[in-house]
Amino acid sequence: MERESLLNPGSTIGIIGGGQLGRMLAISARQMDYKTIVLDPDPACPTGQVADGQITDAYSSRDASRSLARSTDVVTYEFENVDADSVSAASELKPVHPSPSVLRTTQHRLHEKNALLKAGIPVSPFREITSVDDLKNAATDLGFPMVLKTATMGYDGKGQVIITREEDIEHSYDLLNAGGTELIVEQFVPFSIELSTICARARDGTIATFPPSENINRNHILDISIVPARIPESVIENARLLAADIAVQLNVVGLIAVEMFITKENEILVNELAPRPHNSGHYTMDGCDTSQFEQLVRVLTGMPISEPRLLSPTVMVNLLGEVWEDTDGDPDWARALELPGVSLHLYGKSESRAGRKMGHINVVADTVEDALYIATESRDRAWRRSR
Ligand code: AMP
Repeated sequence: MERESLLNPGSTIGIIGGGQLGRMLAISARQMDYKTIVLDPDPACPTGQVADGQITDAYSSRDASRSLARSTDVVTYEFENVDADSVSAASELKPVHPSPSVLRTTQHRLHEKNALLKAGIPVSPFREITSVDDLKNAATDLGFPMVLKTATMGYDGKGQVIITREEDIEHSYDLLNAGGTELIVEQFVPFSIELSTICARARDGTIATFPPSENINRNHILDISIVPARIPESVIENARLLAADIAVQLNVVGLIAVEMFITKENEILVNELAPRPHNSGHYTMDGCDTSQFEQLVRVLTGMPISEPRLLSPTVMVNLLGEVWEDTDGDPDWARALELPGVSLHLYGKSESRAGRKMGHINVVADTVEDALYIATESRDRAWRRSR
């Protein structure tokens, strides 16, 4: 493989995966006159609409990922359920960030939890589950409730079930083990809030962490991100330090999003990692002087990374398919945008479905309370749910 050089504007970034994260990355790249080529099976994918080129093929196609590597200067991926072998194939030809080994660790919950444990990062107690008996033994060790999860391909609450009593063990095991998938069970954390932060680590090891966001989920899908999080400053600082520690210990070059639980005693437990831009970091597009997407462009090209500053309290609300379904495909954007500090980001998806991430609204305001009020009101107006 070629030695890694500084990539000036005009160079080309390859993106495996053509969803909204790739789209926003491509827009940031374009702003600095970098070019992008995306690999995605869908010719109408959100990233393809704004990229300079697309290879329309399966993520698992090694020929396609090699061809992406040949026609670009550096390669990244925008979601972790891509085929790790195909990412490795690209890395034989061009630098891939984060590395295929970071991808392999983070796309498998058990590998991820073991890596965190080894690194001394606090996580909720967990057990590997290969049989119903394992699950029964885990119940004795961990107690109820427990959260049973598939080790791979889980996202937005898919592939997980909460077990609250002995009688549900067999049924829950059968439910998740249907495809013969590997399983992990964790002690349920009675958290007071969920927090996440995104840490960027450059090729030279420089680190910069974004202000953590307080996340409110609905039906296991991120609904609202609030920044600054409404917790003591010392907890926020500890969360940032923890994320930076993870980035170093996993030797991440790129972004690593760290999802955490904060307990009532302000203890931090890491839930999961994502080696890519993250939904909870979308607030940075309007709330920070450098967005998570620009930061990734900087890492990928070898440019200095920025120490991001929060410009003002910012709240992000997701726009899911329901907003379209409930308005017969005609949300009221004009009324949503009447409010001050509102920025609308839409992902160019032509088909809406319940739970599908179609866009988001960021609101920058003088206080967190104002931002939260305006953001939810703006979404309600788009949804035609407000007077
Ligand atoms: P995950 O797919 O692991 O990010 O889980 C999705 C959501 O399920 C999290 O954001 C939490 O709200 C909830 N959850 C997952 N694991 C646990 C746990 N061990 N204890 C409590 N809630 C959990």
